[in-house]
Amino acid sequence: MKGHFDLSLEEMKSYGYKIVDLIAEHWAAMENKNPVASATRKEMDTIFLQEAPEEPTSANEVLDFVMKNVIPNSNVTSHPKFYSFVPGPSNFISTMTDSLATGFNIFSGGWIVSPAAAELEIVTMNWLLKMYNFPVKQGGGIFTSGGSMANLTALVTARRIKCGDDFSKAVIYLSDQAHSSNIKAIRVLGFRKEQIRIIPTDFEFKIGINKLKNAIAKDKLEGLQPFCFIASAGTTNTGTVDPLHDIADICEDENMWFHIDGAYGGAAILSKKGARALRGIDRADSLTVDPHKWFYQPYEIGCLLVKDASWLSNTFSEKPEYLRDIEGNESEINFYDYGIQLTRRFRALKFYMSIKTYGLKTFKEAVTYNIQLTEDVEQHLRKSREWEVVSPATLAVINFRYNPIGGNLSEKEIDAINQQISERVMQSKKAVLVTTILNKQVVLRMCLINPKTSMNDVLETLHQCETYGQEILKSK
Ligand SMILES: *Cc1c(COP(=O)(O)O)cnc(C)c1O
Repeated sequence: MKGHFDLSLEEMKSYGYKIVDLIAEHWAAMENKNPVASATRKEMDTIFLQEAPEEPTSANEVLDFVMKNVIPNSNVTSHPKFYSFVPGPSNFISTMTDSLATGFNIFSGGWIVSPAAAELEIVTMNWLLKMYNFPVKQGGGIFTSGGSMANLTALVTARRIKCGDDFSKAVIYLSDQAHSSNIKAIRVLGFRKEQIRIIPTDFEFKIGINKLKNAIAKDKLEGLQPFCFIASAGTTNTGTVDPLHDIADICEDENMWFHIDGAYGGAAILSKKGARALRGIDRADSLTVDPHKWFYQPYEIGCLLVKDASWLSNTFSEKPEYLRDIEGNESEINFYDYGIQLTRRFRALKFYMSIKTYGLKTFKEAVTYNIQLTEDVEQHLRKSREWEVVSPATLAVINFRYNPIGGNLSEKEIDAINQQISERVMQSKKAVLVTTILNKQVVLRMCLINPKTSMNDVLETLHQCETYGQEILKSK
């Protein structure tokens, strides 16, 4: 019988091919487009706001409307000149294979429903465990929607294992450079403000170890329970890695959970330099990495790794009667027992197929290239009379500002010029380059994790910025 939503085979194919063509053409000619799109709510309402239509519209007409109005009104995060936030370079194989997971609507919750999906999550998790030198047999992990959910999953687990049911005296520590998703997770978990310690960072944006030790000692004197520290392995602002070995020593001495948020920087393990920067990462109890950032996967895929998989199952297993029949045996993992979601999309598939297709070698070369490119950009900026490096190339992040030699500009003027340079670049739509604040200075920040980005792309953008800088100075 033909269901209410069914199309004929020919209709499905022609609709599907059309979409594949659109995506492939986008990938082939991405750099010829502008990465920036901007629109106000009012402009968007004018195009889209309507009641849910009672009557059908032809599939092609809806698709054409979307291609005309939705896609061009979204920034191209995979564009070689998308430098800001954390770009989403993605890759074509994963783009297509993610549609395969959706196309076959594979349920990635329980073993019995989709044994191969669970197996691929086990296999790819083993690859990741090995990459980070976590124990493959005892360790485990789970794919999540992103880094935020991985951090949340980690903190639920940390609290369960370290505090049990009573967390009224528990205290959690993180640096002032830790990602906002951690504070969000702490709030979701219901901790009071008095249970959170935000430790200042030093001039290199690393956590101050002495300040951390002092805070812990003080809390213990007050009868509180220091239970968890969240380190950053690649802060979003500057790519800085906290002193992981020092923190691991403290956590061991104090019986605290050691969580590392490597959502941004974790993938750097694939390069020699990155692996050096990440030394000590294998001492974490739990580690967040975010494949939809620097493992070049399309949204959404995050990942949490833990040293002992039973920590996850002890935290998240519930045994309702309606899931009785899909329990399976001990070794057959039900990933709904490892995290918050029951129904889960098949995220492991794109990760698996892209690594198999390109080979880990290609990923290693790409990450190595990104780190080298950022260092080359630093060298270029240091040789220039117009630019000042504010925070050096770290993993693949660099912060700098327009501050020409002999300009005799006040801090306030430099801030204003850099803000305006960023605004003008965005208005030109040629590159996504926004500012951040470091040491109270407005700086331009580039995160160069896209392997499509060439030195020439960066030089073009810098030249554009220099032209704006000179214009702004002249008009003063
Ligand atoms: C991006 C990021 C997150 C959040 O990850 P999402 O995938 O955006 O949810 C957490 N921590 C760090 C360090 C990040 O860079």
